[in-house]
Amino acid sequence: MDNLKQYYQELGVDSKVYDYVNVIESGLKGRFEQLDAVAELNQLKVLNAMQKYKISEAHLGGTTGYGYNDIGREAIEAVYADVFGTEDALVRPQITCGTHALGLALSANLRPGDEILAISGKPYDTLEEVIGIRESKGSLAEYGITYCQVDLLPNGSFDYEGIQKAVNERTKLIHIQRSKGYASRPTLSVDQIGEGIAFVKDLNADLIVMVDNCYGEFVEEKEPSNAGADMVVGSLIKNPGGGLAPIGGYICGRSDLIEQCSYRLTTPGLGKEVGASLGVNRQFIQGLFMAPTVTNAAVKGAVFAANLYEKLGFKVIPDGKESRHDIIQAVELNDPQKLIAFCEGIQKASPVDSHVTPVPWDMPGYDSDVIMAAGTFVSGASIELSADGPMKEPYAVYFQGGLTYPHAKYGIVMSLQRMVEKGLLEI
Ligand SMILES: *Cc1c(COP(=O)(O)O)cnc(C)c1O
Repeated sequence: MDNLKQYYQELGVDSKVYDYVNVIESGLKGRFEQLDAVAELNQLKVLNAMQKYKISEAHLGGTTGYGYNDIGREAIEAVYADVFGTEDALVRPQITCGTHALGLALSANLRPGDEILAISGKPYDTLEEVIGIRESKGSLAEYGITYCQVDLLPNGSFDYEGIQKAVNERTKLIHIQRSKGYASRPTLSVDQIGEGIAFVKDLNADLIVMVDNCYGEFVEEKEPSNAGADMVVGSLIKNPGGGLAPIGGYICGRSDLIEQCSYRLTTPGLGKEVGASLGVNRQFIQGLFMAPTVTNAAVKGAVFAANLYEKLGFKVIPDGKESRHDIIQAVELNDPQKLIAFCEGIQKASPVDSHVTPVPWDMPGYDSDVIMAAGTFVSGASIELSADGPMKEPYAVYFQGGLTYPHAKYGIVMSLQRMVEKGLLEI
């Protein structure tokens, strides 16, 4: 223990900061045990799928060119389908990010005249342009696909009455977003999502339910696809890539829907048959193997931070005791200097680019300056420890990730250290 304290001190952490955070951490043992049990179950789930499909050395190599008969790619898709409990899956480096995967799932399965109904409120920012909620070239709106939205009730549950009123003969696809993203609503649990799905299927069993699963994978023992979702969609540089996937997205779901997605990703006629995996099969499969414990590290880091900053008197969302359904943590710092110091601490704790200093800047697409801290092995990967926040009231920092718990913890300790050494906070 003394050795550990010495290392922390060598890395710039004051003795009193170290002692303070240790008290918080020792209060979390029971909570961490529960989280470890979820990781253990998910680890076995993933391992079981890999053994079932007899993953072998030959699957880890890649193909070039057209990529016909890429046995690694096919095995990875079978393993994903098994893990998510679906008929089929599309898991590709040609799916460039989460937004692309979601856009693909929508455009592949909707036709002119169809309507999307979002029942968990406004979708993630980048989807506004995909759907055409914000006017945008190439949006689904340009193809005659319309959009309708029902917000969650103030208590965070589905507005069943509103949903019933909004469903009409053109409604084709129901959109549900599991994670709150950067909105202030609570994140939905898989059980809640399951209830919502049962309700809409009762209204019309033909409705396609798509769940934006970003940031939620492996946080619980079940996925929305185990609760009736027809498609679950996400990014491989978040939870399921386990920090190793360098690019990619996935769609797991009903085989007829995945088939449509494959024709949209490549072309009609070619579908899943093409798409060289280049060199990523090993990282995709090893990343999925790591994903349950990497996600566990990120969730523990979030719980640790919530409890630490809550104790210091800040509003934290979710709070220190709440159950977790995604890896995002928000802390309202109410002070621009504290927000900057927090991000500086995260950056200083990074394995990559620890020597650079984040500064607020006028980033395209935001209505205020934004500060971002990230020192990641995979550019922009938010399963790695990262933090950002808009420079406006309430000066909330959103942070997520951490490939290992000791690193997530160290990053959070450094965020506090930075505030203390700048004289912004007394402990
Ligand atoms: C990150 C995220 C997306 C978009 O993913 P990108 O990979 O950034 O395009 C969509 N929805 C949610 C809820 C997300 O968290």
